Amino acid sequence: MIACLILFAELRCQYDILLNIGVTKYIMTDRKTYKTLDTLRFDNRFTRELPADPALANHRREVVGACYSRVQPKKMAEPTLVAYAREVAEALDLSPEDCTSEAFTQTFAGNRLLPDMDPYAMCYGGHQFGNWAGQLGDGRAINLGEVVNQNNTRWALQLKGAGPTPYSRTADGLAVLRSSVREFLCSEAMFHLGVPTTRALSLVTTGEMVLRDMFYDGHPKQEPGAIVCRVAPSFTRFGNFQILASRGENDILKQLVNFTLRTDFPHLHKDTEEASKETILTWFDEVCQRTAEMIVHWMRVGFVHGVMNTDNMSILGLTIDYGPYGWLENYDPNWTPNTTDANGKRYRFGHQAQIAQWNLLQLAHAIYPLVGETEPFETSLNQYAKSYESQWQTMMTQKLGFQTYEAETDEDLISDLLTLLQIVETDMTIFYRNLSQLELNGKALDQVSDDMLMMPILDAYYVLDQLSTSYRSKMAQWLRRYLTRLQKDGVNDDARRKKMNAVNPKYVLRNYLAQLAIDKSEQGDHTMVNDLLELLRRPYDEQPGKEEYAKKRPDWARSRAGCSMLSCSS
Ligand code: AMP
Ligand code: MG
Repeated sequence: MIACLILFAELRCQYDILLNIGVTKYIMTDRKTYKTLDTLRFDNRFTRELPADPALANHRREVVGACYSRVQPKKMAEPTLVAYAREVAEALDLSPEDCTSEAFTQTFAGNRLLPDMDPYAMCYGGHQFGNWAGQLGDGRAINLGEVVNQNNTRWALQLKGAGPTPYSRTADGLAVLRSSVREFLCSEAMFHLGVPTTRALSLVTTGEMVLRDMFYDGHPKQEPGAIVCRVAPSFTRFGNFQILASRGENDILKQLVNFTLRTDFPHLHKDTEEASKETILTWFDEVCQRTAEMIVHWMRVGFVHGVMNTDNMSILGLTIDYGPYGWLENYDPNWTPNTTDANGKRYRFGHQAQIAQWNLLQLAHAIYPLVGETEPFETSLNQYAKSYESQWQTMMTQKLGFQTYEAETDEDLISDLLTLLQIVETDMTIFYRNLSQLELNGKALDQVSDDMLMMPILDAYYVLDQLSTSYRSKMAQWLRRYLTRLQKDGVNDDARRKKMNAVNPKYVLRNYLAQLAIDKSEQGDHTMVNDLLELLRRPYDEQPGKEEYAKKRPDWARSRAGCSMLSCSS
């Protein structure tokens, strides 16, 4: 239907949100008055305004003619708090005392409902690995309701791993500690890196064991169960629209689109009106823009989502569903952490922008019935590609510390660098962070040896023996071109370093660090989860004494499960 022909050779980008990193964080004031758990204000618009599944029994089924099913969380045996994120608690007006209370643990383990909570699971479908999979839905996520905080900001709360729902299909509705630690820490780390994301309020263990066959090889193991309480303005996915369109439920589709406009995109739409075709198209265009922005951030920090199915794409352009994701260690655009995707590598690092566009095309198909024209969708999808390209360019410009993107010099500089980074194993995070240390100290370029030039970046290499003479001379030659380009900008080293360090993080949630925290947590010691949470609140700061956490992946982690490869089993 929609012929979307957008070719990206290498994908690029630009944008000024990078300049805003960190500004969205919460600032605590002395005057803040907290609510308590029992006085949180709920205003559950999703369940109030959208059609519900009339059946209340919790058995697995196809749910037609509805956007959600009401369902109660399962009672868990012995919940224990592992960690909570203070900024998220703050956003909900919850005090630190509240968050360490027994009532908090019981509430966010699903054992205790607050009076105005209205728990439900959403109905959605999706394309998984490129194929339409039909109804999926919240198989193990149970939404508790929407909190409106003192600033009138709306936050939906959702428990992941709180028991079966009508959408659980053949699975158990539960989550294990290992995957919950990964989701909890990574979503908060992403937020502090300035990447659009869903958030995490809390992580609790349930006191129950969950059976998982981690590598789908017939060796299931009992693992500790856990629940993350996720928090976001909304959890609506591309798949929520797709399932309705796939069933020809155009009236409900229209309702969901209008609802999404009113609640998630109020700047586009007045509350009472039915959205016009033009508004729907403007909205689609904004979804494209937000998605481009999100992917550019992933490329900036070296994040690979791992399962970019359309049911894992947020309509708000938030990173959602942290499963077998990973962080690039050595720069390799072909890397994916997801063992389930090892053959096709559909969701590899360097392919994420194209996949997002393919997913947007599927969303366009879903909302097409409300518009009836293909051309405007094609325009937005083409615009996505252009906007991604220019945002990517700006992002790379900022990573390299240039004032502005100058195509004449920078296009080659960037593509030559990305080629060099792949020739030998080079840690992406350390490389960019250390690049800011390069300086000439008043010397002329031709007075500095190749070895001296390479000094600041040596730490980024995994195997020094891989640095052949020819490689060294190529890299040194690139560094000379780079320094010449910097000299043209005429910015002093300190100012440049400061700007580079604000976009090139020192600390990311390295795959092996998450695994070490998981190993400890599984033994009942949650200190490392809390240490990492604290560390990752300030990923761009030097944090003396914490350098250990900025080191390259140790050799033992090269091929250990959980450190370099993950399955979807969680
Ligand atoms: P994911 O690959 O995590 O995005 O999940 C795809 C679909 O499977 C979604 O509908 C999930 O809710 C569902 N799902 C994943 N794990 C479980 C589980 N343990 N129990 C029930 N549903 C699950
Ligand atoms: Mg999912």
